Amino acid sequence: MPKSFLIDTTRCTACRGCQMACKDWHNLPAIETKQTGTHQNPPDLNPCNYKLVRFHEHKDENGRVVWNFFPDQCRHCIYPVCKDVADMAVPGAIIQDKETGAVLCTEKSAELSYEDAQAVIEACPYNIPRLDKKTLLLTKCDMCFDRVSNGMQPMCVKSCPTGTMLFGDRDEILAEAKKRLAIIKKTHPKAYLADPRDVNVIFLLAEEKEHYYEYASFM
Ligand code: SF4
Ligand code: SF4
Ligand code: SF4
Repeated sequence: MPKSFLIDTTRCTACRGCQMACKDWHNLPAIETKQTGTHQNPPDLNPCNYKLVRFHEHKDENGRVVWNFFPDQCRHCIYPVCKDVADMAVPGAIIQDKETGAVLCTEKSAELSYEDAQAVIEACPYNIPRLDKKTLLLTKCDMCFDRVSNGMQPMCVKSCPTGTMLFGDRDEILAEAKKRLAIIKKTHPKAYLADPRDVNVIFLLAEEKEHYYEYASFM
């Protein structure tokens, strides 16, 4: 049974515990950043940040400020186009684990030419993979495959103090996503699930994707 995440953004407080836990588990070093006038830091995903809490601010129709948070990561697509594109150049550079559905960049990704690596990056509808210019590896969230394949929860899910993230068998996660959506819709009629038929990381958004991040959902 493939595994899925539910990321219910209506519960996210932007504490960034998930972002730090991901770095910690993967032994990813700190990188130098600059204050750019937002709490979103670093500004984007990069080879040292597989998870990034994105911040977005706007005013609603009553002029009230709404602050939305989007804990971004690879969606572990059911039919991963990144893998299809990589396979055309270097088979095995990106693989999909049959049991969990995890989409994984392998050491073979370093054999991709710069152009082929860029083609993989551009093919991703969610703007996820990043090229590590030192190792030449493609990098992204790996579903904490070492943990999940040993029966543990992904580190970001385990660290979340608000219940924003859930992880489990796809059927159960989809059922919970639909249940939570029905509740949220009572107060946020525009709420929706982002591409639930295509991805294993299902975001629940309270309003249009423009109020989160341009790649928050495909549809
Ligand atoms: S989100 Fe992008 S990188 Fe992740 S599996 Fe889908 S296509 Fe690949
Ligand atoms: S599943 Fe693991 S690798 Fe992916 S974002 Fe969460 S902590 Fe990071
Ligand atoms: S740990 Fe949970 S509440 Fe904190 S930023 Fe991540 S998803 Fe949001």
